[in-house]
Amino acid sequence: MSITLPAVALRGMTILPGMVAHFDISREMSVKAVEAAMTGDQTLFLVTQRDIEIDCPKAEDLYEVGIVATIKQVIKMQNGIVRILVEGKRRIRLISLISQEPYLLAEGEYVEEDQDACSAEAREGMRRAIQEAYARYASLNPRLGKEYFRQIAETKDAARLMDLIANNIPVYYEEKQNYLEAVTLEERYETLMEILLQEVNIISLKNEFQSKVRERVDKNQKEYLLREQMKVIREELGEDNIGDDAEQYMESLEKLNASREVKERIRKEIDRFKNIPPSSSESTVARGYIETLLELPWDTASKDNKDLKNAKKILNDDHYGLEKVKERMLEFLAVHNLTSKGQSPIICLAGPPGTGKTSIARSVAKALNKEYVRICLGGVRDEAEIRGHRRTYVGAMPGRIAAGLRTAGVKNPLMLLDEIDKVSSDYKGDTSSALLEVLDSEQNSKFRDHYVEIPLDLSEVMFIATANSVQDIPRPLLDRMELIEVNSYTENEKLHIAKEHLMRKQIKKNGLKRNQLAVSDEALGMVVRSYTREAGVRGLERKIGEICRKAAREIYEDNRKKVSVTKKNLSQFLGKEKYTFDRADKTDEIGIVRGLAWTSVGGDTLEIEVNVMPGKGEFKLTGQLGDVMKESAQAGISYIRSVSEEYKIPKSFFREHDMHIHIPEGAVPKDGPSAGITMATAMLSAITKHKVRWDVAMTGEITLRGRVLPIGGLKEKTLAAKNAGMKTICVPKKNEKDMEEIASEIKKGLKIVYVETMKDVLKTAFV
Ligand code: ADP
Repeated sequence: MSITLPAVALRGMTILPGMVAHFDISREMSVKAVEAAMTGDQTLFLVTQRDIEIDCPKAEDLYEVGIVATIKQVIKMQNGIVRILVEGKRRIRLISLISQEPYLLAEGEYVEEDQDACSAEAREGMRRAIQEAYARYASLNPRLGKEYFRQIAETKDAARLMDLIANNIPVYYEEKQNYLEAVTLEERYETLMEILLQEVNIISLKNEFQSKVRERVDKNQKEYLLREQMKVIREELGEDNIGDDAEQYMESLEKLNASREVKERIRKEIDRFKNIPPSSSESTVARGYIETLLELPWDTASKDNKDLKNAKKILNDDHYGLEKVKERMLEFLAVHNLTSKGQSPIICLAGPPGTGKTSIARSVAKALNKEYVRICLGGVRDEAEIRGHRRTYVGAMPGRIAAGLRTAGVKNPLMLLDEIDKVSSDYKGDTSSALLEVLDSEQNSKFRDHYVEIPLDLSEVMFIATANSVQDIPRPLLDRMELIEVNSYTENEKLHIAKEHLMRKQIKKNGLKRNQLAVSDEALGMVVRSYTREAGVRGLERKIGEICRKAAREIYEDNRKKVSVTKKNLSQFLGKEKYTFDRADKTDEIGIVRGLAWTSVGGDTLEIEVNVMPGKGEFKLTGQLGDVMKESAQAGISYIRSVSEEYKIPKSFFREHDMHIHIPEGAVPKDGPSAGITMATAMLSAITKHKVRWDVAMTGEITLRGRVLPIGGLKEKTLAAKNAGMKTICVPKKNEKDMEEIASEIKKGLKIVYVETMKDVLKTAFV
């Protein structure tokens, strides 16, 4: 039996029997349908559209099965929208749409379930199965209300139970529509069961995802909590500075003048540091590392004073004499000003100790307004001292170069590499090659310190090196440097330095005033001559300091206004004279010749003795000798043998005699090829019994054929000869030019003989 009812096409929802639902209607034809129903028995034909988009659906646009519902409430809202509350009653199959204007009028027939189609047991079985499936679904879905649960438990009819459940499961309307269209109980059971199982699956998957996410969130939260707790514990223990420190580091980092990469790197270190427990040793290491990085002058530079006049003034004010050195220094500064960074050559000041090398470098720094750092390389044997230790070592530190930069606080200081000749290499790596990297302008813009790890830019550092002995500087290093020689001082120069510089310095240092101490020139001269014997003025400065100290004491204790030091009372201040010039024995002797030597602390004389005695032609060398000297002695013998006829030495002489050469005095090993002619002269004198003049000293190397080769350290040697009271010195002819450059003050009273061959030497030396 068919019925005709006003119909509303539903979009995106399906209403099932027993379901109470409300929805909004906006289409005019639907509103009209509701109005028509309200004037009748308030019954509506609700049928779902297959496609939500369609506005005026035809019969084929609608699902086949809909529902007859009674309207329970109608509310008119704004904009012509009507909200209605309906209750689904019975399934109805759409037969046709009778009209579409002014509203849908549908003809349909009820879909009836055949109650007898399945047995009571089957119904009950289905009911239980559904209930169980639902229980499982509900257990995964704890938000379901209790009331509803009870209702389900109490429903005894399978059909009603299914409708009840279907109504309340939040699934897409298509699935509800499927359920609606299932007519027989079995069909409905299957559809619903499918929906339920599917839901259970979906929900358990959803729960699984959720719990995974929750686990992650929980872990984070737990860590946060633990960290907070740890903070409190640290506070309690008084260890709560790690956060503060990290913050302070961050603040310093903000202010740091460095490139982005460097800053990023330091930031990472600080982050790492925050997570290290403060009591662990690792924390101390990290702290030291970060502090070092923060203190290094990455991009901080000072501004140079390029005024050469000013530089000249400072150099002159600070140092007496040293004209050549100052000239070279000023030339060097001019070049430094003109060239761009890292291009200027590296200066090496070479000379005996106490001759003002360090102090000149300091003056240069002052003149240029540069920061000054001194790196003492004396005794450095381990490469790590220059390049730093890797941080994995306990007590690792940056190398001296990096540490020097840190002390300077700018990236363009003047760095003094003091005593570069004293570095040595051993099994711990090659120190000089590390230094080479420092000095090489090609490489030093990216100098790698093992500790710092981030490359350092040394290209703007101004390096000045000092050395006592040029020979000891490793060759590759020497090649990179420009040598400026600083020579020993003469007595007169020392006197000037003492008067014009050292006195002033020491008076000030010892808290005296200038008018409280007067030292006569004569007294100073005595200090120079009789209390010190050195190439430089360091000992002299110490002695003057001693005078100042004693004077200060007298002034303080005896309430004296002024202390005067003269030649007479000098010994009260400095004690007995230390050096009386041991003038040479003034007798001419056989087999004893005075040589002149150059050592790293200045010049010296050395007496060479030779004895000849009957024997088997053996040859002995004793005393302080270097390897070169031994070779010189051999060359001397060969020469003498070659000229033995000339000196009427019998052929058998060398077979029947032993010869002993000895160099008695001097604690310093004397090396350098300059004693050849001295030894040859002594030997020949001993063999031929010719006496040698006491007042002749000589220096020069000998060849096998008796030629004399030039030598170095002429100034020091000449000074030593003069101090020893010599009257004549034999100097290689090839050194004549160098001699011209030596101040006449030194040469005064000395007869200088330029020798080309041994013959010339013997002519001068033999009586
Ligand atoms: P070095 O480095 O050559 O061993 P220093 O530079 O330490 O020697 O010099 C030692 C001391 O002698 C310093 O106090 C220095 O000022 C002083 N001095 C050296 N030479 C001169 C000089 N020509 N004029 C003034 N003072 C000098």
